[in-house]
Amino acid sequence: MAVDVILDQCEVALRILESDSKCSGETLLTELFSTKGYRWLKERELAMKQKFTDVDFSTFILSDDLRKQARRFRAVLDNLQKLSMESLANQAKEYLPSDAIIDAFVVPLIKPKRNSFVYPIEGKIVVFLSLNPDVTTSKLQNTIVHELHHVGLRTVYQGPNSVLDGVSDSRIKELLRFTQPLGEGYAMLAAAGGPDIHPNDHDPELKTLWNQRMASFDRDFHDIDRFLCDLLAEEYDQEEAMEKGFEMMGIQGPWYTVGWKTATVIEVVCGKSRLIQCIADPTQLFSTYNQATSVYNQNHGTSLPTWSLELVEAFNEEHRS
Ligand SMILES: [Zn+2]
Repeated sequence: MAVDVILDQCEVALRILESDSKCSGETLLTELFSTKGYRWLKERELAMKQKFTDVDFSTFILSDDLRKQARRFRAVLDNLQKLSMESLANQAKEYLPSDAIIDAFVVPLIKPKRNSFVYPIEGKIVVFLSLNPDVTTSKLQNTIVHELHHVGLRTVYQGPNSVLDGVSDSRIKELLRFTQPLGEGYAMLAAAGGPDIHPNDHDPELKTLWNQRMASFDRDFHDIDRFLCDLLAEEYDQEEAMEKGFEMMGIQGPWYTVGWKTATVIEVVCGKSRLIQCIADPTQLFSTYNQATSVYNQNHGTSLPTWSLELVEAFNEEHRS
């Protein structure tokens, strides 16, 4: 397990922001464009068909508005450097099977889009971490654990012991592949540190959004359930399925809230090790959640929805075989 931090892009970017004048900043652009962080970001954005040019980036990094925030960026970077990547990776591993591997580069970046994500480059997973001048240390920690959980879960689903490899029915295999975005919810849970902690405790704005989203939980749950049932019935071609699945991502959309709720109900009723088994083998996730809801509803006075029987049965059959 190794998490290495690559600071070259944000260090040169900060030197540009801290330079005496725009002119002296300009002389550092060539150095900025040759940093690993910048080259990797460009490679990823272009691969994802995002507009990304050196000219646009120069305009962004040389803007007066950004220069005014140099001191705040520096403080954020200083705080980031004090974090122990090893302990953050261990926090992510709390919600992963023991054979999960967290081997990644974390690349903090000063960039126009304030989003963080993981993407494989040169055979290794890179966590692209957007550095914002107003980010708190707890938010940084939360984002890093969230992204490292994705890194680890990826090795579980793509590794040599992957449950997916053992699935013979190609329809079920495809269906399982499309349940993987529920991992957004597991990452939220891992980053929060437990089912009793609000997954956006560290961010008041996101906390409000999350609570609003949870108000339509039953509908979101139903949408994902319907989507998976339609996949099982082979209602979509590959492209339609990708599009439909992507629509439910949002900022922290249905995949996040439904994944989080499914995981927390299982953890609260059946314990963390049972949850980790279900994360590793999603053929067990749906029936385990359905069984757990009756106890959960009784203890919490809720009336949580359950997964359709056709899904549960399809997975049960696979699990038995
Ligand atoms: Zn995520």
